[in-house]
Amino acid sequence: MTLTADSALVADLHPSPNIDERRRGMKPTLLILHYTGLPTVERSIEVLADPRGKVSCHYVVALDGRITQMVAEDKRGWHAGVSIWRGETDINSASIGIEIQNAGHDAGNPAFPTVQMMAVRDLCLDIIRRNTIAPEGILAHSDVAPARKKDPGERFDWPWLAKAGVGHWLAPEMLGGPGPCLAVGDQGEAVRDMQRLLAAYGYGIEQSGTFDVASELVVIAFQRHFRPARVDGRYDASTAATLERLIAALPAAKPIV
Ligand SMILES: [Zn+2]
Repeated sequence: MTLTADSALVADLHPSPNIDERRRGMKPTLLILHYTGLPTVERSIEVLADPRGKVSCHYVVALDGRITQMVAEDKRGWHAGVSIWRGETDINSASIGIEIQNAGHDAGNPAFPTVQMMAVRDLCLDIIRRNTIAPEGILAHSDVAPARKKDPGERFDWPWLAKAGVGHWLAPEMLGGPGPCLAVGDQGEAVRDMQRLLAAYGYGIEQSGTFDVASELVVIAFQRHFRPARVDGRYDASTAATLERLIAALPAAKPIV
């Protein structure tokens, strides 16, 4: 197995056998950010190279910012699992994946050190330069798999990355504004509107008009990324306004009817 670094920022190469070819003709248009959820980067790299685990990722960023490449960018890594974005369900074929060392929610949601975030930023900018990935294509694993995944979590500093030119992010509307609040069990046109807006942004959500548990998990995923001050799965006025403004700010925004 030969692997050559795609980026000058790569310090170590550790090829993973858990790869295959991208679906015919597909070039990466998404960049999926993860946390490893494991205690050490050594353990994370071991897991991402274990043929029995059937998982891998293009890059791993250690707590000290050291970058290891495990999968060539033109290969299909196995990091997204069952997932969907803008109707595409083969997210592994459509994306490059970065695993960021962090023990995760089960370990109390530790902070991402600044030196690590700087490495993530530089790596993302480098990947964007070499691939056709729009700002809104830089996503959390939880965005594409809201029912299964929480990573990289609400402590991940998306606003700081966005200021550096990585990702699509706007300051969220303040909490507690006036307006309706939708939650699990609600039904009707307002719920369908919410589902339509979340789907318009890219989330995989059924437009049923019923605020079910699956819808709640999508609202939670949205909040983790875009309105992290309160991650409660309730579609309050702040969540709604933040979503509407993000859609309006998309470069190729289509009118929402
Ligand atoms: Zn993940």
